[in-house]
Amino acid sequence: MRYAVLSDVHANLEALRAVLDDVAAQADAVVCLGDVVGYGADPLPCVEMLAERAEAFVAGNHEHGVAGLLPVTWFNRYARAAIEWTGQHLDDDHRAWLAARPLVHELHDATLVHASPRQPDEWEYLIGAEDGWSAFGDFATRLCFIGHSHRPAVWSLGSSGPDYEAGLGDLPLESGRRYIINVGSVGQPRDRDPRAAYAVWDCDARRVTLRRVAYDVATARRKIVAAGLPRFLADRLAVAE
Ligand code: ZN
Repeated sequence: MRYAVLSDVHANLEALRAVLDDVAAQADAVVCLGDVVGYGADPLPCVEMLAERAEAFVAGNHEHGVAGLLPVTWFNRYARAAIEWTGQHLDDDHRAWLAARPLVHELHDATLVHASPRQPDEWEYLIGAEDGWSAFGDFATRLCFIGHSHRPAVWSLGSSGPDYEAGLGDLPLESGRRYIINVGSVGQPRDRDPRAAYAVWDCDARRVTLRRVAYDVATARRKIVAAGLPRFLADRLAVAE
């Protein structure tokens, strides 16, 4: 079984469509790590596409913001503007559906969570080496897939010691090691590569591979500006920081 692990779509329909086209040849099923909404101009079609396609869908901080489960004061001013705009462009049914997504989901030997397995509703950022290593006690499975920082990374622990790498390429899963894997962001990458990012987890081949997919950034930017969302959010797609 091969799973496409998608995180942080952020209402970027152009990026999501390009990724799902790529997924067709790469994976058998889709799972979603949250933050499908917020920042971009197409929350509704992104939610509907993933509600239909994703075998598992955990909530991110933007789902909780839009659903009223996390106060808007928690967010910076750009995210707050996006959450208020998004709230006006989703109906009650969609908000309720997003509010009902779990924070954590276990699939085979992996835990799926948006930000961190340690207190998932604290929305902690795992960025540096120590951040990840200290979270291994907070999940029981061999693997943990996360998003949230929009930066691919991998932490691992095993008998040969701890390892951390900013970035993710083609990762063979060694027996006896446990991993926390950040799959990056489909709709708003922040690792200086503007292409959409997602990971393919091949359970049988015991391998996780990061995929990068070029998409129509110009159209996604134009739609953000036309929607009246902050221009910063449009420009950010091009610089990917
Ligand atoms: Zn996000």
